[in-house]
Amino acid sequence: MEYINCETCEEYMNSFIENRLVGEMLWQFLTHVEKCPECYEELEIRYLVEDALGRLEDGEAINLRSELETKVRVTKRAMYTHYFSEDILRILEIFSMIIIVYEVFGFLSHFFGIVF
Ligand SMILES: [Zn+2]
Repeated sequence: MEYINCETCEEYMNSFIENRLVGEMLWQFLTHVEKCPECYEELEIRYLVEDALGRLEDGEAINLRSELETKVRVTKRAMYTHYFSEDILRILEIFSMIIIVYEVFGFLSHFFGIVF
């Protein structure tokens, strides 16, 4: 998988704040900001500025910091769970296929064992 660089990350920032980033792009974005302190800081500033315009009450800005942290963490976890359960389903599917094949072969050899 190819990961995005700081430049692309910056392009995604506003979309992320406005909840318009989805799927692969969102995943890559979150992975990048988690590993890149510079981009996270930039995101934090943008997030604060963006939201502070809406609510200018005292103390709100401090809460926004942890709000962003939660947003990053929760979104990532939700995506992880989503991808994870998809993988599990795929594995179960393959597993049940193997069991079916195994049972069919077992049945056939048993059947032929008796007949022949
Ligand atoms: Zn970066």
